[in-house]
Amino acid sequence: MEERTIRLDLCSSRKEKPKTQQLEFGRVFTDHMFIMDYSDELGWNDPRIVPYQPLSIDPSAMVFHYGQSVFEGLKAYLTPNGEAQLFRPEKNFHRLNRSNSRLCIPPIDEEFAIKAIQQLVALEKDWIPDAEGTSLYIRPFIISTEPYLGVAPSRHYKFIIILSPVGAYYKEGINPIKIAVENQYVRAVTGGTGEAKTGGNYASSLKAQESVAGKGFAQVLWLDGVERKYVEEVGSMNVFFKINGEVVTPALNGSILEGVTRNSVIQLLNHWNVPIVERKISMEEVYQAHQDGVLEEAFGAGTAAVVSPIGQLTWNDESLIINDAKTGNVAKKLYDTLTGIQYGRVDDPFNWVV
Ligand code: PMP
Repeated sequence: MEERTIRLDLCSSRKEKPKTQQLEFGRVFTDHMFIMDYSDELGWNDPRIVPYQPLSIDPSAMVFHYGQSVFEGLKAYLTPNGEAQLFRPEKNFHRLNRSNSRLCIPPIDEEFAIKAIQQLVALEKDWIPDAEGTSLYIRPFIISTEPYLGVAPSRHYKFIIILSPVGAYYKEGINPIKIAVENQYVRAVTGGTGEAKTGGNYASSLKAQESVAGKGFAQVLWLDGVERKYVEEVGSMNVFFKINGEVVTPALNGSILEGVTRNSVIQLLNHWNVPIVERKISMEEVYQAHQDGVLEEAFGAGTAAVVSPIGQLTWNDESLIINDAKTGNVAKKLYDTLTGIQYGRVDDPFNWVV
């Protein structure tokens, strides 16, 4: 059985907080972190909140060699009343356990993990920036720590949660981005680890990202790993196309990461009676829709940027300019509604925030 109380070991002094204008993504961390250990004998044990500090881990710890690790990403938002709230954290921990299962990592207690976040965020509430669009990024992760070089599931793990104040993704409202379709490298294949949030997926995405970053592209659009034909997702976002009045997003096929934002977008579109379908969509179909003048919008959806309109999609040296490279109505309404709910400014019809 898991121990329910979280032991506290608090800092004697607090760090200086960064100024809002200096906030970057994921460079500064708060005063404390949550940590819990796992061993085959004890299960998950000794949950504690301790000062943010380096870890002491054996160089032979399995995570350094075979990458058995998983992570999540979510945010705490400050409401107009000065309260901290989370957006659908149960979805993140449900996904973490699915990632755990794929990586042979023992499951965590999802409800307890949410309580741990709430306690940590409450302790670090002064770190949540209050300027428009800013938030406290939450990074839960699990690493395999058994000192052993055999290729096998580790028998020891650490589950850690760290917090980082982050700036507004878009400084002046939402801005359309340029995306390059990746034809050479692939992110994942069905049966692989694409639907898990594990470090290796991101390590193997760097090469494609690096090759386009110098050319003004924000991210790459991944195609399926078998035929390089069907659209999968964009960098760290799921992708949506509005074609002739209907919104289409690639169906979950085992290689796409199931985004919390993707799920929220689908629910909102259904709620508004905007036609939305999850199905296979080829890059050829997207191209043809653009040629026919019916590709009305394209956008990515993910925790970091919420909704990111795609103004330009470059495929085989041809650039498709979508909606005159302007933010479309559907993307704008989704962005306003989702951020409105997250920051507690508008009604939350689905009880998403906690
Ligand atoms: N795809 C990938 C590969 C991602 O890393 C992310 C970010 N977690 C997403 C999609 C979007 O997921 P979410 O909406 O849960 O942030």
